[in-house]
Amino acid sequence: MVNVYDKLMNMKDQSKLLLGLIQKNGPVTRNQIMDATGMKLTTLKRFMQPLLDEGFIIEVGIDKSTGGRPPTLYDVNPKGSYVIGIDISRTYTETVITNLKMGIIDLHRFEPPHDPTDTVNQISLYVKDALSRLGIAKSLVLGAGIGTVGPLDRKKGVILNPANFPSNSWINVPIRDMFKEKLSLPIVIDNGANAAVLAEHLFGIGKGIDNISYFHCGVGIRTGAISSGNIVRAINEYEDAFGHMVVDIKGEPCYCKNRGCIETMCSIPSITKKFKKLLEQRYSSSDDESKSLDRIDYLYICNAAEQGDKLAEEVILNAATIFGIGLANYINLINPQLVILSGPLVKNSSLFYDTCVAIALQRKYIKNHKISFSREGYFKEHAISIGAAALLVEEILSMPKYISGINMEV
Ligand SMILES: [Zn+2]
Repeated sequence: MVNVYDKLMNMKDQSKLLLGLIQKNGPVTRNQIMDATGMKLTTLKRFMQPLLDEGFIIEVGIDKSTGGRPPTLYDVNPKGSYVIGIDISRTYTETVITNLKMGIIDLHRFEPPHDPTDTVNQISLYVKDALSRLGIAKSLVLGAGIGTVGPLDRKKGVILNPANFPSNSWINVPIRDMFKEKLSLPIVIDNGANAAVLAEHLFGIGKGIDNISYFHCGVGIRTGAISSGNIVRAINEYEDAFGHMVVDIKGEPCYCKNRGCIETMCSIPSITKKFKKLLEQRYSSSDDESKSLDRIDYLYICNAAEQGDKLAEEVILNAATIFGIGLANYINLINPQLVILSGPLVKNSSLFYDTCVAIALQRKYIKNHKISFSREGYFKEHAISIGAAALLVEEILSMPKYISGINMEV
């Protein structure tokens, strides 16, 4: 049985272009597609027919008549093909099975990630079980996208040397080939923050907006951006560079060997460390109290700040102020129309989010630059896994502006 990947790869570019358009805009009428593409009806019918014949798109109803015969609406077939999206982050691993509409059909999370072999085995086992449980034939799966902590060698599909990973066995991990061997599916890999911003740009809160910046604030600070409709790519695939922007030349030493980086004040480890240090300084600790210090994590601090604890408020406020300054600098250079702040710190602390936004707005250079902010975007904590799935589809639909440089062997 020919699989959906081969079927799609054998289609003409025009058919793939139509599928991408219908995927992102459906349900749509033929007239709407003709307006968007400039295709004539006979051409459109010729290139749509293979998509209908192979079950990638279906008729989903009838639009309102504007005089004459009411037009048929087309959309992607929600049961025609499926994609796997994998998010490998520092504090969890998430796998989703989606259809072409990027709707989550099934989801699996485990935390924290074990060593690479364990992680790949667990995810692969889940994928096989889930497909069987859901009655989805493997021939209907287009492939898997992976959004991971960087830095990466995207062309080779290798995770290089991520900082602050719970296990130090994640050095030079050929993650794409490991998954390819286990799943026997096409695989693409990218930074998680790039995947997340792509998901929001194509299917989420940033739909129709061509300049978007995405920040994931957690153990590290991960950044992805869309500029003029394209993922911003640097030569080095470092998604954590924003976190190492220097905001205090005499600041605390950072593990990157610099001083006063944003990350030394605004990440989960730095906030937790600061809170515990101040707690110890201000309240003489007995044995009992030092034991209870071990139980204090970022979630405790976020919740305490939300409930009005002065020390927790002070620590979160300081961290968010520094982050807001960095954000203002970033906004000055990149000029995004939309900034999405996401990740555990943003999810769990409205004080952190509100302060970041207020300071960034106060301190940005171009005062009349219109910018909107979103707390967690549309896909929230699933943005990376959904975005990874979306990346795979973009690769197959041959939209090289999003994935240039990826060599996807099958
Ligand atoms: Zn640093």
